[in-house]
Amino acid sequence: MNLTGMHIFVTGGAQGIGAAIVKDAAERGGRVSFGDIQDELGKDYARSLKKSGLDVSYVHCDVGNLESVQEAHKEIVANYGMVNGLVNNAGVNSNADPVEMTTEEWDYFFSIDLKSVWHTARCVLPAMREAKKGSIVNIASIHARMTFPKFFPYAAAKSGVIGLTRNLALDEGEHNIRTNAVSPGYTETPILTAWFNSVTPDQQKLSLDTQPLKRFAQPSEIAQVVTFLLSDAASFVNGADWIVDGGLHARFA
Ligand code: NAP
Repeated sequence: MNLTGMHIFVTGGAQGIGAAIVKDAAERGGRVSFGDIQDELGKDYARSLKKSGLDVSYVHCDVGNLESVQEAHKEIVANYGMVNGLVNNAGVNSNADPVEMTTEEWDYFFSIDLKSVWHTARCVLPAMREAKKGSIVNIASIHARMTFPKFFPYAAAKSGVIGLTRNLALDEGEHNIRTNAVSPGYTETPILTAWFNSVTPDQQKLSLDTQPLKRFAQPSEIAQVVTFLLSDAASFVNGADWIVDGGLHARFA
């Protein structure tokens, strides 16, 4: 899992799972650019990682907006050269009501949780094709396979991420570009903490009791799988969806 010589771009990297991927990829020798809309957090994080000797750089990048992605891509390529590894991690939750949700809200949500994967891929693929090498990892979710009430339409977007992963895996495989998905289960990040704090103590207890390992994942446990998929150690893994949920998907009830 050595990423020396690779330029990795991680979206939504200022906190949570993305931040753990940035750190893990940089610790394994990659030059890592990461984007987010949380600019202060992102810049602070980049400063702290640089202080510990890691080769990282922050850029503002709103993944729902193609122009913003193109701007960010231009900046990071000027800084570190072509992107060899892309991690589409930025995402938000959605707890909409199917009747109340507006078309604008739907479009905004899907632009971040699904369309963004295409936005970033469009930017990095030409150079990857020319180089005849590249690796893309899309962060989906166990919600792509099973979901729970009041999460509309998160499961649809994450299922779409896995579908896009398959499309890219087949279309770009001939250029030696591998595309895979990682589907985390409950992972201890700000998004999970916000959700956990919003539910009743009974629901909190139930969500922990149903975990086969009796705990949630740490972001670093997702990051290590992503780093593996980025690296040449995963040279024959393409079009896969790696579930990293501590076994939750094996549970019937
Ligand atoms: P997080 O802690 O909220 O971090 C995500 C980061 O992405 C935040 O800084 C967020 O900013 C940023 N972001 C939001 N919209 C963006 C945009 N348009 N452009 C660029 N950055 C944007 O979330 P996380 O828990 O690490 O989740 C990371 C990914 O894993 C997401 O795709 C999520 O769906 C998926 N996932 C998470 C879990 C889990 O249990 N944590 C489980 C399965 C899948 P804001 O704070 O302003 O939103």
